Amino acid sequence: MSPTLDPHLKRALAERVRYYREMGIYDLYRRPVAEATVESFQELQPESRDEMPSKSKAAVAVAVVKEDLFVVPKPETEATDPAIALRLIREDLGDCTRCPLHKQGRKQIVFGVGNPRAELMFIGEAPGADEDQQGEPFVGRAGQLLNNMIKAMGIRREDVYIANIIKCRPPGNRTPEREECETCSPFLMRQIAAIRPKAIVALGAVAAKTLLAINAPMSEFRGRWYDFRGTKLAVTYHPAFLLRDPRQKKETWKDLQMVMKELGMAVPAKGVE
Ligand code: URA
Repeated sequence: MSPTLDPHLKRALAERVRYYREMGIYDLYRRPVAEATVESFQELQPESRDEMPSKSKAAVAVAVVKEDLFVVPKPETEATDPAIALRLIREDLGDCTRCPLHKQGRKQIVFGVGNPRAELMFIGEAPGADEDQQGEPFVGRAGQLLNNMIKAMGIRREDVYIANIIKCRPPGNRTPEREECETCSPFLMRQIAAIRPKAIVALGAVAAKTLLAINAPMSEFRGRWYDFRGTKLAVTYHPAFLLRDPRQKKETWKDLQMVMKELGMAVPAKGVE
């Protein structure tokens, strides 16, 4: 049976794991606990194994953690050029079979597109049929509207970076499942870490909820800045929603104005069409 961790140690470990995640390191491996525990235990407390005070237990546990927690750096860790880092992340993703979507009719992985040094990143939900067909995010009708939004900001699609929470089309364009988001989004996190944009715009509730780990309605998400691992993040309506309810384009324009101001961009008078 695995030993119960001292609560302080547990908190310290959680902190450490969070720190690694922020550094873009996601895979942490443990050796079988029994084997490592016995070794470390014998090294530290050869004579008093049965009546060890709790402080010593913590010391043992720390020793165990030091010895058997292996951190595997991501291939892009050393890359200083974001284009190279993105290529390494794409290679690491490979022909991904990490979640069931790979056998549910996806044609191809839709990694992301745009300027590897973009100051602004848009993050949607999941590829749809057109994106699955072409291997590029936001190329269908919603993509045309996203292009209009970007153009209204006075910039070009090639200037920004566009990606989704998940990289494979869910069957029938259903909402991605939590497990799919959890399995896939670490790759998105690595893309963000490689690009280091000044601002991120989450398009729609799925992107907002996944990135911010907050369960709130769009009305609460919009109109303010969030701190996403040190990067400013704003939330606006998903272009597919705007296609269904074009009256909300005005609201979207307000969100984009907030973003433009933050990035020091001139704010054009004309909004999203
Ligand atoms: N909707 C999304 O969320 N992403 C795309 O790439 C296309 C449509």
